[in-house]
Amino acid sequence: MSEARPLPPGAVVGILGGGQLGRMLAMAAARLGLKTHIYSPDPESCAFDVARRLTLADYGDEAALDRFAREVDVVTYEFENVPADAAIFLASRRPVIPDPSVLATTQDRLVEKDFIAGLGIATAPYMRVDSPAALSRAIEKIGRPAVLKTQRFGYDGKGQVTIRDGSDLEAAWRGIGGRPGILESFVDFEREISVVAARERGGRVECFDVTENEHRGHILKISRVPALVSPAIADAAQAITESIARAFDYVGVLAVEMFVPRAGETAVLVNEVAPRVHNSGHWTLDGASVSQFEQHIRAIAGWPLAKPARRGRIEMINLIGEEVEQYARWLAEPHAKVHLYGKAHVRPGRKMGHVTCVSPDPTER
Ligand code: AMP
Repeated sequence: MSEARPLPPGAVVGILGGGQLGRMLAMAAARLGLKTHIYSPDPESCAFDVARRLTLADYGDEAALDRFAREVDVVTYEFENVPADAAIFLASRRPVIPDPSVLATTQDRLVEKDFIAGLGIATAPYMRVDSPAALSRAIEKIGRPAVLKTQRFGYDGKGQVTIRDGSDLEAAWRGIGGRPGILESFVDFEREISVVAARERGGRVECFDVTENEHRGHILKISRVPALVSPAIADAAQAITESIARAFDYVGVLAVEMFVPRAGETAVLVNEVAPRVHNSGHWTLDGASVSQFEQHIRAIAGWPLAKPARRGRIEMINLIGEEVEQYARWLAEPHAKVHLYGKAHVRPGRKMGHVTCVSPDPTER
């Protein structure tokens, strides 16, 4: 579909996926006078609670996709594993933003790493692995420790095995389900950071401040802003994010996760690109003059981006699994802003909500 004119208030944004990211996008859209229609195969999607319309159907259901397309003015997605066929089918009917071609790259770790490396951006050394024999050859080259990841459909550490001294390679291969994967050198990192950025149709990019991320059990637990990195590292991280956004001719919000290695020649190594709003950008809801969700809605609506300004030092804490039961304690904290996603069932490792603590920082510019 050719690029449409900017959407008028009252237009309908279609969102593929019904999780908390879709929910927060729908809330941002509503504030700007836009309506949302959520498409999800999960009847308990927490985004359904806050949208004007919903479609409960599989991503392969062409009749449902066709009806959805007729009822929306633009389509976006809140998770990157949207089946490419569904996105392409919709793109023949309505603008799908970001362009579905981005999914083809970011759904496959190998294609993504090749794409990033092709831009001259550093990553941890990696190799494709498609059999136990290929894994032992790759270990010879890359060394231990290393991380074996499935090539497709991995997130929050799912589909990942760390191979250390003495780890059994056959078991590691079985650990990722015996599916094609990539082996990456294990990065001895000083910290993990991310940059969330928005790019508008005209090409202008606005980056949020660099965020420092702490994971527990491969799941994001805490994000802190500003990251404790030098201005040179912060600039490099934002410049990398900007060049990835430009290379994709991207429209909307994307996030780039990076490692700051303890040693080596490169200041930062890119780990992953998420073609969507990102958990490490949730702090922007309470800690910035514009949120990542609003930036995404602005960009896909063809509206100008805002210039984000941070409001102080910020800590965003994910409420994972039964941690959500402590919400009353958080409600009593004077500086905490509590966000609950309204998910019906608590499961270990499931993101149930988050809390943002903003402390004014008088030393800041
Ligand atoms: P990913 O699914 O690639 O985002 O990885 C999830 C988490 O696993 C990252 O945020 C890191 O904490 C850790 N991790 C992934 N790849 C590596 C690596 N090559 N070296 C060290 N830690 C890693």
